[in-house]
Amino acid sequence: MTGKPTDVVTPLRAKQPCPECGKPSVRENYPFCSPRCKAVDLNRWLSGAYAIPVRDDEEEDSTGGSEAGERN
Ligand SMILES: [Zn+2]
Repeated sequence: MTGKPTDVVTPLRAKQPCPECGKPSVRENYPFCSPRCKAVDLNRWLSGAYAIPVRDDEEEDSTGGSEAGERN
């Protein structure tokens, strides 16, 4: 009665640090360390989705004005 798989234990992969806080990630929330960090990242994605630049031709003149603000 042989043939049973003995490698039931999942091989440990190289743990990557949480992209949000740098803590070691856990498998449940990979690649994050906690559901909180996962939510933070998701929130960032959603926020970015809403921040899609809209083509406004009327605002063309104000582009590139941010760099000039560094002068003192
Ligand atoms: Zn984290």
